[in-house]
Amino acid sequence: MKYPVYERFYTWQGEGVHLGRAAYFIRLYGCPQKCFWCDSAGTWHPEYRPPQVGLYSAQELADFVVQESPDGAVVVVTGGEPILFDLTELVERLHAAGRRVHLETSGIAPLKGGIDWVTLSPKPFGMPPLREVVELTDEVKIIVHDLSDIQAGLKVLEGLPDDAVIWLHPEWSKAREKDMTVLNAITQAVKENPRLRAGYQMHKAYRADDLDPHSDKRQIPLGGNPELGV
Ligand code: SF4
Repeated sequence: MKYPVYERFYTWQGEGVHLGRAAYFIRLYGCPQKCFWCDSAGTWHPEYRPPQVGLYSAQELADFVVQESPDGAVVVVTGGEPILFDLTELVERLHAAGRRVHLETSGIAPLKGGIDWVTLSPKPFGMPPLREVVELTDEVKIIVHDLSDIQAGLKVLEGLPDDAVIWLHPEWSKAREKDMTVLNAITQAVKENPRLRAGYQMHKAYRADDLDPHSDKRQIPLGGNPELGV
């Protein structure tokens, strides 16, 4: 099987429990969720089709990881929506290369592959996550663009393990604008429910991903709106 790769790059994990950890990202192409604030819109938006999407085997991707990042760096498989693909072979080859494999997904299809760490970012306004994926989740990332997103995200987490961490992340355009309505709502929610944590996309503040020559530097403003999708 060949995997469609939109971009790959070595950087560090900018959010969640593994914040700050060296990480090699493999961003697969394709996503049906069509979030209007998507910051990876090049993976699916019809107005911004990439000039080409590389098709690589699991072994070729494992070789890239070994050549382009040192031992100890985890591999984050993201998208797009990577759960649309059977990840079994990719995970096996990465494990054989001695790497832990993390997944970032909205959980809309059965998970195939022995992933070591599952980050679930539910999109309840699109397709909600499958319960079987929720049950495998290690951490949840709820993106908060509107205040209703917090409750909507929490509602689709039936079956979440008790020890899974739940992050509330301001959607990036809101974070960049320091939208205090959204930021204060996250603060309030965390104070009311200590299981929740306030999050932030730290790699964007550092612009860490841009330093790798393989990362995609194009700005992809959704619908021509330069405040979204970048
Ligand atoms: S699920 Fe992720 S990749 Fe897909 S449209 Fe939403 S933010 Fe973008």
